[in-house]
Amino acid sequence: MNEFNNGINKFIGNFPPQTFGDGICHMIGAFGNVGIVETEDGLIIFDIATRQFGNRVFNTLRTITDKPIKYIIYSHGHFDHCYGFSPIIQEIENKKWEMPKIIAHENVLNRFEKYKMLDEYHNWINSQQFASIGGREGRATSAQKTLNPTIIIKGNNEFSFEFGGYKFHLYHDMGETDDSIWMHFPEKDVIFTGDLMISSFPNVGNPYKVQRYPKHWAMAMEKMMEKDAKFLVPGHGALIEGRDEVKEVLSVTAEVMHFVHDEVVKRLNEGKWFEQIYHEMLEIFPRRLKEHKILKPTYGCYQFAIHAAYRLYHGWYNTGNPTDLFPAKSNDIAKELLKLNNVKEYLNHAKTLYQDGELQLSLHIVDIVIKGLENIQSKDLLDAYKLKYKVLKEKAKKETSFIAYNIINNAANSIKNDIDLFENLK
Ligand SMILES: [Zn+2]
Repeated sequence: MNEFNNGINKFIGNFPPQTFGDGICHMIGAFGNVGIVETEDGLIIFDIATRQFGNRVFNTLRTITDKPIKYIIYSHGHFDHCYGFSPIIQEIENKKWEMPKIIAHENVLNRFEKYKMLDEYHNWINSQQFASIGGREGRATSAQKTLNPTIIIKGNNEFSFEFGGYKFHLYHDMGETDDSIWMHFPEKDVIFTGDLMISSFPNVGNPYKVQRYPKHWAMAMEKMMEKDAKFLVPGHGALIEGRDEVKEVLSVTAEVMHFVHDEVVKRLNEGKWFEQIYHEMLEIFPRRLKEHKILKPTYGCYQFAIHAAYRLYHGWYNTGNPTDLFPAKSNDIAKELLKLNNVKEYLNHAKTLYQDGELQLSLHIVDIVIKGLENIQSKDLLDAYKLKYKVLKEKAKKETSFIAYNIINNAANSIKNDIDLFENLK
């Protein structure tokens, strides 16, 4: 199994459940992970995975314990953490049990409303982002039906409760989202982090999604470190065990988030524009962070984080060049360029760049042909598409970030469909 598949298998929870904390804590690997605390009075469930994983999680849970679920806690409102509720509700109805208390941050409700408003749009986005794990088939989100919280944590308030003879503490911190809470279970030295820890480079600058918060992310890690926990249940990936290991993953994640944030801020203060900041940031990424096992770009990646830090403090005018303030259509620009040089010259040059391994530059040049010949069915256009397909496939092969891989690979596959259609027309 290659590293990409290995990383993704862990990310989507393809590993057996784990038991820890003197046998009363469990983690079920899923998309995303589900944390369980088993007490004499019943169960606390921290996150309930996606709708599609609901049955798998529930069946696994019922091989571990048959106690009733008394609390459900949402780490945040993403669809892979609070939509797997159907089998849980079914069981409660069948056994005529009381509904569990459901705890979440107040912003989860805003998120649920937003998902309902943008259901079709998010379904499209998620079909792109999750294409390689079946996102294209079936609806990833289906946000119209939600299981809403009954206990709502407001603002930065902390929330503590006692259950089954133990105390639990919930804290709000921003990072991947503005609605995150994480849980500390001091008697068994466990923290349940949700997606503030995903065993990959933090998913802080997703290209499809709204603003995320690198500085706050670092601060959340530092708050968690104060608990000196022995176990960390992450939102995705395997259980993290041992005080030193937990401390290490939290501190290196804090360090990388501070690094990206502070270096972008420094360059903004130096009057630099995005392109310069981005390329300088690629040069200065310390090897120690780049190669750290918990910061592997399995899901998100460093490049995306640079965008996130920049967008915290900047608008959309990215280049400082007034040409880009009210830009023409890129197809019209390409048409003008094709008037200057022969299409074949561009095509040959793009091919040479591809052969020299300059994949990104090759894409920019071949796009001039594709955009410039818009809707003109010709052999040159077909050749340009064939080249772009090859370049994208080559790029996808080298990509370790799940999100980046899916974006590039989807585009390659859709070009392949166009090529096939075009060739069938002949
Ligand atoms: Zn999330």
